[in-house]
Amino acid sequence: MTYIVGLTGGIGSGKSTIAAMFAERGVPIIDADIVAREVVAKGSPLLAKIVDYFGRQVLTASGELDRTALRRLVFGDKSKTEWLNQLLHPAIRERMLQQLQQQTALYVLWVVPLLIENNLTEYCHRVLVVDVSESTQLQRAVRRDKNNEQQIKKIMLAQAGREQRLAKADDVINNDRTLDEAEADLRRQVEKLHQCYSAAGKQHEK
Ligand code: ATP
Repeated sequence: MTYIVGLTGGIGSGKSTIAAMFAERGVPIIDADIVAREVVAKGSPLLAKIVDYFGRQVLTASGELDRTALRRLVFGDKSKTEWLNQLLHPAIRERMLQQLQQQTALYVLWVVPLLIENNLTEYCHRVLVVDVSESTQLQRAVRRDKNNEQQIKKIMLAQAGREQRLAKADDVINNDRTLDEAEADLRRQVEKLHQCYSAAGKQHEK
């Protein structure tokens, strides 16, 4: 299997921003959020199961999964949340592992928000953490999602803390400075890591 670099970080830390800088260098990206959408795509067997359980109210007019409707239906309901997680989590994991196995590049970047929480580091040869202070995280996530602070704080509490994440990191990119200040420097750091991962991937191939 290809050399796997797991990229993680808390909500709003900048995972997608940093992953895009690797993608610019031609690195294949497997993104858990995208896979999570693929497994419930229109016409998928999993979407049919969700409709059987919750009714057609979880579908949009065009037959796609209505995520907001689903979120509302499971919110605060432990058994429904568990049912959904038990359906989705193994399917997402299996599809990600399948996609990892199909890679032929020197290395692949595997972007997973809950890499540490879900013990997926065991599949990674290297773990890269995008690190920001909690206040930066809160501010950026609130701005991006137009969410209220309480909701973001709740999500942050459910995720691994900064220390716990850093303890699992082989490499760390700090993303506290604004892109205006730091974009060139971030690109330099990504380039350096890209060289290291490519070399490690080559070594791993042998
Ligand atoms: P999530 O897991 O919540 O989807 P993420 O870790 O992928 O988030 P991004 O989407 O990359 O994080 O970044 C969160 C928000 O912060 C985005 O709106 C992004 O444009 C912005 N952002 C990221 N890095 C910086 C930065 N250095 N300066 C200013 N804004 C930034």
